[in-house]
Amino acid sequence: MRPTRLLAWPLVLAALLLVQPGPAAPSGEDLLVRIDAGEAASLASDLRDGLTAIAGLRSSWLLVLSETKAKRLAEAGVGYEVLDSRPAGKAYFLVRLRTAEDWAVLPSLGRAVRLEEGTALFWSGDREAREILPSRMQIARLFLDAGRPLSRPAEPVAPVAAPSDDDPLISSLVAQVSQSRIVQTISDLEGFRTRYASTAGCESAGSYLYSEFAKLGLAVEYDDFPFAGHNGRNVVATLPGTLFPNRQVIVCGHYDSTSDVPSTLAPGADDNASGTAGVLEIAHVLAGTPLDFTVKFVCFSAEEWGLYGSKHYANEAAIAQQDIVAVINMDMIAYPDRVPHQFDIICNELSYYLAGSYRDNALQYAGLKANVMLFGYWPYSDHSPFWDAGYEAVCVIENEDPLNPNYHTTNDTLSTLNTGYATLAVKASLATTMDIARPVETLAAPSGVIIRTQFVRSLYLWTKTVGLRWNPNAEGVVGYHVYRSTTRGGPYDQLTTSPLEGTEYTDRGLDRSVTYYYVVTALDAQGRESRPSIEVSDKDATWN
Ligand SMILES: [Zn+2]
Repeated sequence: MRPTRLLAWPLVLAALLLVQPGPAAPSGEDLLVRIDAGEAASLASDLRDGLTAIAGLRSSWLLVLSETKAKRLAEAGVGYEVLDSRPAGKAYFLVRLRTAEDWAVLPSLGRAVRLEEGTALFWSGDREAREILPSRMQIARLFLDAGRPLSRPAEPVAPVAAPSDDDPLISSLVAQVSQSRIVQTISDLEGFRTRYASTAGCESAGSYLYSEFAKLGLAVEYDDFPFAGHNGRNVVATLPGTLFPNRQVIVCGHYDSTSDVPSTLAPGADDNASGTAGVLEIAHVLAGTPLDFTVKFVCFSAEEWGLYGSKHYANEAAIAQQDIVAVINMDMIAYPDRVPHQFDIICNELSYYLAGSYRDNALQYAGLKANVMLFGYWPYSDHSPFWDAGYEAVCVIENEDPLNPNYHTTNDTLSTLNTGYATLAVKASLATTMDIARPVETLAAPSGVIIRTQFVRSLYLWTKTVGLRWNPNAEGVVGYHVYRSTTRGGPYDQLTTSPLEGTEYTDRGLDRSVTYYYVVTALDAQGRESRPSIEVSDKDATWN
């Protein structure tokens, strides 16, 4: 039986709750706990039933447990750490710790628990972290209704950098992205002096965005939401899809800002007039060219207060069972702080393919290098509520750890930005949006790929043979290509010089000490290639 780890302060309370049998507790007796990811993975299914997380950290989950459930886990010897009791109605925030000073200041401002390297949990009753903590701190509200499944897909669907010719339509539209319009929008947004959510300046900025989208001929609406005793407005513009209007791609960024004097001056040029300008610019270019899927251009508010606008939007979308296939969130794209012509794409396991597609399109259409960062625990922007709702979403950012020295200060102004760099990021986002929202020419990827491994051993030879087999594709397919890599997710070498007609492939003479990864694509009579199948590895041979 593993020991239950407890923090010192809730020890007595937890002991009472967990050890003493008593009458059924009212629902207010819930506990906010943390469970180690390994512990969660090994939970028996009856214990796991109904358990979802409100946040995923690097190696643990945060959950709200009823007293009854907590008791059952404790009785089964499941270790967990009680962080707080009666969480309902309290405002919990994840706070990013960059320096020792960040951590040092937290306990004097409210309740704080250091969760792991770089991350703390902070709360102060129902008070808003944004109104208590120094403006430099990155925060994300924890929403107690988030329902992240307590497991991570073991093998994310790997992207493949399929070399292909430029798509002429994508190229021509990318060429229309205008740096001067992006500059103008950033300047206009800075002109409101502050866009701190709850201020009149933020309201005016929302109205401005509404009218800019309307000028493009797009249907626009406000998506109102309450937060912290205020009213916030997301601005939503829609470009209806022509073939599959129910399927949506969301291009978004938050337009609110903050600083050390947020109620009077918060120019927020990089954070996040830059991303907002990107959303508006992509709308500008695409407005006359409807794609197969619907594209929604969404400017969120109250992100700086802890992601309130995007949480409201993603929640409503999930309740309405909206078919959102991808979310591209741009947040800070105009200060190339570490390596020029490079930026980060933050994704979770579910969004790994989307991130890979973004990376490939960024390089192909904008000449921009992007790092795919599989950081499912990174909640500090508007992609995070979409992850909670089970949608694929990426956050495009100049650097995952913002090094812009003007971050959340009154110095975050247009004059400090590199708008040429921002323009490249906008081109990359546009190309990716088109690639995703216009896929009808693409064949279905081969499915049901299974793999077997055999070792060939004689006095002079000891090698490995890998066999692949997959389901025949639907009509229209004339052949298949097989790709191999020695690293998960590629890059892959193409093994087939001409398309295979059958649905089997044997790869012989392999190094027995190396693990190989394979994907299969389908080809049609015009030579067009499908997206790759799910990657299989000879480590997990499934066919004997
Ligand atoms: Zn931001």
